[in-house]
Amino acid sequence: MQPVNFFNLTQETLRSFFTDLGEKPYRATQVMKWVYHQGVIDIELMTDLSKDLRNKLAGLLVFDLPIIETEKISNDGTRKWLMRVDEKNCIESVFIPETDRGTLCVSSQVGCPLDCSFCSTGKQGFSRNLSMADIIGQVWLANRELGYFGQHNRIITNVVMMGMGEPLLNFENVTAAMDMMKDDLGFGLSTKRVTLSTAGVVPGIDRLAQTTRVSLAVSLHAPNNPLRDTLVPINRSYPIESLLEACRRYSETNQGDPITFEYVMLANINDSQAHAHELGRLLRGFPGKINLIPFNPFPGSGYTCSSKPDLDRFREILMDYGLITITRKTRGDDIDAACGQLVGQVVAKARRHQLNTEVGIH
Ligand code: SAH
Repeated sequence: MQPVNFFNLTQETLRSFFTDLGEKPYRATQVMKWVYHQGVIDIELMTDLSKDLRNKLAGLLVFDLPIIETEKISNDGTRKWLMRVDEKNCIESVFIPETDRGTLCVSSQVGCPLDCSFCSTGKQGFSRNLSMADIIGQVWLANRELGYFGQHNRIITNVVMMGMGEPLLNFENVTAAMDMMKDDLGFGLSTKRVTLSTAGVVPGIDRLAQTTRVSLAVSLHAPNNPLRDTLVPINRSYPIESLLEACRRYSETNQGDPITFEYVMLANINDSQAHAHELGRLLRGFPGKINLIPFNPFPGSGYTCSSKPDLDRFREILMDYGLITITRKTRGDDIDAACGQLVGQVVAKARRHQLNTEVGIH
């Protein structure tokens, strides 16, 4: 029998794994507590399993995780890990400590196929989807590095699927991993503290509503279709009206949970007062809030971030429409850990090369 990677199993499939072996399903509970609460991944150390069972499991159940290649720590305490997921590919995860919480930003794909014009992950093309083990493994490894296991108080209190990739294009693995983040035998986070951010994959939003309850963030970035078509190309398939309808359905399915609209502030592109009014009219009365993200520049992006006065004015206009609007703090920019700067290392470099040539970087 091929060994099974524990980190690819949901609670349900782990229970079936044990019943298929002729064992009691509660063995799943025991092993999950060892792994996700105690941080133990050596079967020999799981002392409440009989010696016979431990022998039986050796070789049948393995605990394969990404490999941490490097860690960088920012002046502000932000930590970024480069994790190898296979011979050719690496991804990045970022931990952002704040006074009242600790947020882990997790990747869902190696690279990204959506190619938003201002995103450095998009520039390197797409290699592959991450497995459930690659995704929950980022959370497990970050917890281990932060010294959480066996402790009472959580260090990672929130997880956001805002690293590399479009999570709704890797639906099964992302939702299975998020369920494990919420599972009491997993990391036990509440639905409010697990956030999925999407560029606007409308069918995925509807499917998510039917599958699991998490906080939803949507990368809007423009108040009208012609502009959004250029910044977030998936808008050509799912324009703003259909996106907002899906958001409304999602909120309704989840007892009116608010949607977070992300809006990257690009100087002279989407940051005028007219854009603010257009956005205000678009979202007025919507069950949501707005997160303004200062653009994080990277070489060859062709964009700059809005000035502070423009950003403040933009925010004030939105507040006048009764919209809760927050400007996201930029964290970890000294270690390239800020939003949209996660690049990892992706084999599919063809497009990146082509792009770099276009903008004159070699
Ligand atoms: N694919 C998902 C997750 C992407 S990353 C999504 O599109 O939502 C999370 C957020 O960072 C998104 O809102 C994304 O648009 C934004 N982002 C990407 N590049 C950025 C950059 N250079 N500066 C600021 N925000 C950026």
